[in-house]
Amino acid sequence: MVSKLFFTTPQLTWVDKLRNALALGTSPIVRGLIDYEGAMRTIRALDSVSFQDWFIGHGGSQESIRRMWNPIAYALGFIDCESISARCMLTIFMMFASKTEASKLNLLKGSPHRWLTGPILDYIQKRGAKLHLRHRVKAVHYEEGESPKVTSLTLSTPEGERNVEADVYLAACDVPGIQRLIPDAWRKHEQFDAIHRLEAVPVATVQLRYDGWVTELAEGEAAEERRTNLSNPTGLNNLLYTADADFSCFADLALASPEDYRKSGEGSLLQCVLTPGDPWIPKSVNDIVTHTDAQVRKLFPSSEHLILTWSNVVKLAQSLYREAPGMEPYRPDQTTPVSNFFLAGSYTRQDYIDSMEGATMSGHLAAAAILGLPAKLATNIAVA
Ligand SMILES: Cc1cc2nc3c(=O)[nH]c(=O)nc-3n(C[C@H](O)[C@H](O)[C@H](O)COP(=O)(O)OP(=O)(O)OC[C@H]3O[C@@H](n4cnc5c(N)ncnc54)[C@H](O)[C@@H]3O)c2cc1C
Repeated sequence: MVSKLFFTTPQLTWVDKLRNALALGTSPIVRGLIDYEGAMRTIRALDSVSFQDWFIGHGGSQESIRRMWNPIAYALGFIDCESISARCMLTIFMMFASKTEASKLNLLKGSPHRWLTGPILDYIQKRGAKLHLRHRVKAVHYEEGESPKVTSLTLSTPEGERNVEADVYLAACDVPGIQRLIPDAWRKHEQFDAIHRLEAVPVATVQLRYDGWVTELAEGEAAEERRTNLSNPTGLNNLLYTADADFSCFADLALASPEDYRKSGEGSLLQCVLTPGDPWIPKSVNDIVTHTDAQVRKLFPSSEHLILTWSNVVKLAQSLYREAPGMEPYRPDQTTPVSNFFLAGSYTRQDYIDSMEGATMSGHLAAAAILGLPAKLATNIAVA
């Protein structure tokens, strides 16, 4: 499905499409269709090269980068093709090419809280585990020696500080979280010191609610009626990409995730991810909303007369791990020099990008490490 999309998109000229075919046709992805692990070894060795340099070096065109690959890279890692490693992009294409189910674009039926983390939490609680929200790990206590060990954690909780002891400790943090958590003294170990070289990328997400259906593209009286008929949703029901706005990917959640986001008497709820996020972090919420709304109307001129009824902006100065060229050696393994202290989280070493799937893979790897069972990255259950 993905390769068909690459070759039929009207975004590119035939020359650009042929150059795309040349770059992808000579890539390790073709080998991966018969020898997945062999191709992954080649792809992992491309960590120090940017996707842009790799693609142009294989005959791809700059125009393809601008019109097609940059929006894809922005959507996947919130950075462009010059800033993202060839390893990261090619790994994703490998998975798309070799697992048919991986190339489907799907959105949850509704909010992640209800449809994703809710069921996971139910599963965990049914097995007797407890989740304590608003319990931040403030300090890690440990004993040095030949085999250093964590002895307890100090948690900061709404009821005050608490000390907890366990047999094994697993830190499943994001990049800024783990950088704050690791005791300074541990930086004498290369693996912990390297974590401080990892960076996180900024991103801003904008939600815009309208009094009609923004992505109903048709013109004319009948279409205008459909666009403003709030009881009958219409428009593009999928994740959308563009090279012509400051948001690279977006979706109408009222159509794509209707269970929680379709509201009676209201229309489209566009969620737009502004990438790169850097310029938006210092901007006011008003400026961001006005700018994004104007770009939405430029992309969909037929929505010109709709009224923006509600908006929300979430700015994250540090979100995903920055998948920059040359960073892979600094990503930590799930096992650490501290014998009872393990790491999980998407930023830890696993093949996939910083994503829900990457986080899940890191969890499988950490569990295998704790149990002392073998687990290999590309043959991990999540991608096997
Ligand atoms: C705007 C946006 C859109 C995204 N869209 C998608 C998508 O469509 N599909 C997809 O697959 N992925 C998406 N992602 C990426 C996905 O959210 C992440 O890759 C995933 O959440 C990583 O999971 P994680 O468990 O590694 O880290 P996180 O989800 O970041 O969890 C780490 C947790 O550790 C906690 N923590 C840190 N320090 C401490 C401490 N000292 N004590 C206690 N807790 C601590 C943090 O509060 C946080 O809750 C998106 C991300 C963003 C920002």
